[in-house]
Formats: sequence, C-alpha cells, structure tokens
Amino acid sequence: MFSLTYEFKLQPTKQQSETFLDWLEINRKVYNYALAERKDWYKSRSCQVNACSLRSEYIIPADTPRPTFASQCKALTAAKEQYLELKRVQSQVLQQTLKRLETAFVSMWERNFGFPRFKKVGQLRSFVFPQLGKEPLKPGYIKIPVIGWVKFRQSRDIPTDAILKQVRIIQRASGWYAMLTLQWNISVPQPMPYGEALGVDVGLMSFIAASNGLCVKRPKFFVDLQRQLKLLQQRVSHKKLGSNNWRKAQKKVQKLHEHIANTRKDFHWKVAHQLCDQAKTIFVEDLNLVGLSRGMLGKHCLDAGWGQFFQILEQCCFKHGIYFQKVDSRKTSQICPSCGTQTGKKDLSERVHVCENCSYTTDRDVAAAQVVLIRGCAAVGHTVKMLAEGKFIGVPAKQESHGF
Ligand SMILES: [Zn+2]
Repeated sequence: MFSLTYEFKLQPTKQQSETFLDWLEINRKVYNYALAERKDWYKSRSCQVNACSLRSEYIIPADTPRPTFASQCKALTAAKEQYLELKRVQSQVLQQTLKRLETAFVSMWERNFGFPRFKKVGQLRSFVFPQLGKEPLKPGYIKIPVIGWVKFRQSRDIPTDAILKQVRIIQRASGWYAMLTLQWNISVPQPMPYGEALGVDVGLMSFIAASNGLCVKRPKFFVDLQRQLKLLQQRVSHKKLGSNNWRKAQKKVQKLHEHIANTRKDFHWKVAHQLCDQAKTIFVEDLNLVGLSRGMLGKHCLDAGWGQFFQILEQCCFKHGIYFQKVDSRKTSQICPSCGTQTGKKDLSERVHVCENCSYTTDRDVAAAQVVLIRGCAAVGHTVKMLAEGKFIGVPAKQESHGF
C-alpha cells in the first residue's frame, strides 16, 4: 500500500470560500479550546503543594485524567449542544483538528518540540476531510462533504486506479488549494539496495553533502528573498494596525512567504533529482536522532528545511526505483570514515576532517556523509563494494518507474 499527494488550486464560488473561511475560524477556536484544556491540566500538575501560585488558583482535582484525543472528541460532541456554530462544520473535520493537536503533543514528547502554541486569527490555515463520499471526483470538480461540488484547476491527471483517501483544504495568499491524498491498496515491490550507493548528510557549510564529494550550497537567492521579506514586514509594522494600507502590506508579506516556500520546494526537487541521477541506493541521516548537540540550529530549523528535503528525496527515490533508507546519524561528524576512529568533537570553525590516526583528509561535511554511507551499508548487511558489484544474494528485479 502506498500513497501520493496531489495539489490543485481550487476555484470556489464566493459562497464556498466564505464557508471555507467560516470553517477555518471554527476549527481554530476548537484547536485553541482543546489546547487550553490540556494546558490547564499541565499547570495544575506542575503546581507545587507549598507554593501554589496565584495564576494556578483554579483547582483541577488530582484524579482528573489527562485530556486525550479520545476524551476531547467526546467533549466536542457534548459541546455541540451548547455551541451551535460547531454544528456547521462536519464532525470528522473537527476531530482531525483535535488529532492535529494530539500530534503536536506527541512531537513535544518524542521529538523535543516546544509546547504547542495557541493559533491567532489566520494562523490555522487548513482543515482535513478524512473521508469522502462515493465518486468524489469528476473532471475539474471535487465533491467536498457538506460543501458540495467545488471547481478546481486540474493541472494534471488524477490516477483512476487509486482511492481518494483524504482532502486537505488550505488557504494561501494566492487562494484556496486542495491537497488530495491518493492511496493504492497494492503492494509495490520495494527497491533492493544495490548498485552505486550514496550517503547524504545535512551540511554545516553547505545545504547537503554527499559521500562522493558533491556539496550543494545554499542558494544565494534565499538570502535575498529573506532580506526582501524583512523589508516588507517592517513596512507592515509602520502602518496603522487594521487599516487598509496595513492589510495591503500584510497581503504582500503573505504572498512573498508563499513564493519563498515554492522556491524552496523547487530547489529541493532539483537537488533530489541531482542525487538520484548519481546513485541506485541512497542513505540519509535520520533527522529525528540529530540533537542540538551538533551545535547547529534548533530542531525546528532542521525540520523546516531538511525535513522537507528528505521527504522529497524519498519520493524522488521511490519514483526512480532507488533504494532509500534513513540511518542513525549520531556522532557522524566525530568518526573517521577511513579508519573508523572516533575523534574529538569538531569545532564549528573546523571545515576539514583530518584524521589523527590515519591522516585521512577531506571536507568535514563529506566525511560525515561517508560515515552515513558506511552505516547505511552496514544496516542493510553489505559493504559499499558489494553493493556496487551486486555481489549479494537476491539480485533486485529490474526497476520500473511508477508512471508519474
Ligand atoms: Zn582515520
């Protein structure tokens, strides 16, 4: 079973886009309400017995269970009787928003993300339909529960042998979009590790580095775009809050944000293709395991840029029948890829790896990528040479592209 995501620009009627806006706002309120409930519960637990602060005056009984996705879904159903506006939105959509909050908490527990924040007006920009009715698609139209047929610009064909699993409606500066998740209930043969193998590491000096020496620099135009964004944001702050000019300036900021996101995505696809052209097997470091210990930016930064890139790289590999695997990335920068000796922690300014033991010398990012490659090969039980020569049991079937 595998799934793919297709995105299309919607062309809703005025009434439909008003409904979208209304639903976004109700979803935002539900999100914030559920977050407040969870937050209160945490506060009531963290309050010291002998130092009960004024702000924690409300008392939540000690045996109150921690709010969960299930308990909040139940509470939501009950709240509908009291808050009639909740009835305007399809229940499943609101439940998905509660699930999103649950996911934010899981990320906090498991991945050390920050405590989820309240969403201000306009900060919740999408909602999800986890299920669609029968035959939800016809050329140029998608049938959205409750809302009905919505027109969209069909920029590419939608495979007919797949099931439309879910639809996410997103508001962007340039309008409304639908993200369609299509699922095939067949098992696709996974490519086997074989052929030229490549280790890929997020770089310190460059965007990414590969074990064959390829280093991709961060493109300079991002710096220019960021500068432009800062300028526009300054302009917003000089306008009177809520005025017409303020709104216009705000709109410009949002448009640029969208442009930056699109440009970044294009860049990620370009790099992914470049890597896929050079290998049959690709190992990357598992970002979930990269801590702040590497003296790099926060995890959020890691996830914003490289997280998306690795996702795209995985898709690209899948398309081209390239074996893709994440490997443990701890201490990649402290190990010599040539002899395996663990060296001391490298200073941020050290740009070159020089091994004290075997005197192997190379770019520090490339060295880390080579360690990723060695670990990846070990993880699949082969050596780099074995993969390249195909000397292992089970020669992979000829890979075919999956036709998209
Ligand atoms: Zn060495």
